[in-house]
Amino acid sequence: MMMKSTLGFLLSQIFVFQQLAVFCASQDFDFFYFVQQWPGSYCDTKQSCCYPTTGKPAADFGIHGLWPNYNDGSYPSNCDNSNPFDPSSISDIKRQLQQEWPTLACPSGDGNKFWGHEWNKHGTCSEDILDQPGYFQAALKLKQQTDLLNVLQNVGINPDGEFYSLTSITKAIKDATGFTPGLECNVDASGNSQLYQIYICVDTSATSLIECPVLPRGKCSSRIEFPIF
Ligand code: 5GP
Ligand code: 5GP
Repeated sequence: MMMKSTLGFLLSQIFVFQQLAVFCASQDFDFFYFVQQWPGSYCDTKQSCCYPTTGKPAADFGIHGLWPNYNDGSYPSNCDNSNPFDPSSISDIKRQLQQEWPTLACPSGDGNKFWGHEWNKHGTCSEDILDQPGYFQAALKLKQQTDLLNVLQNVGINPDGEFYSLTSITKAIKDATGFTPGLECNVDASGNSQLYQIYICVDTSATSLIECPVLPRGKCSSRIEFPIF
């Protein structure tokens, strides 16, 4: 009798520990969207753009953000205002960020405002996994890993102001990365639908690409412009 209740107690303790471990390891989001923007499509709109203080960025996709998301399409934001963006935490990768994560909003800036906005709004929601330098480094690594412009140019899809089918762009990225991307369009000053942002889904450790649990509604026509930058 005594033996039985001791065993029962032990088993219940093990159960409690297991639950605790699951709770501690669990995250408050399900996956990341890694979002890159085409600078030509940010600038080629009625609102226009301003080049960063460091000069015109390369004609390449730029990072917009690494966004924690839920499987139902909703997302957390501004999760910890006690951990605001600290520019000194990224001073050693600032040059790289200026190249790969340039800001195009007006007025011109050096990038800190854009990165700060992204950290405060999105990065704080994954701070248990990635601290500030870790968050920005993870995004830089993903940019390198996906190399989207190269992927598109390899199949003859070039930023030349021509129109391409949405399916051909999606297929090129799927063939290269193994996963279907989300494409988002905006409209140029004359009202044409153009390739604005590409969403790639990434696991909660921000290292492996995954199939998107939910794709963003991208507002693209079936044929879209890929503007010159
Ligand atoms: P927009 O309304 O221009 O599509 O998005 C404005 C901002 O809301 C984005 O830059 C981003 O910060 C956030 N946002 C929009 N859609 C999503 C989404 O599906 N997931 C996450 N995590 N953030 C989003
Ligand atoms: P989100 O749309 O991620 O919530 O916020 C984007 C914010 O960053 C906006 O306030 C926007 O003005 C600013 N921002 C600064 N540079 C850029 C840029 O190059 N692209 C985009 N999409 N937003 C930028």
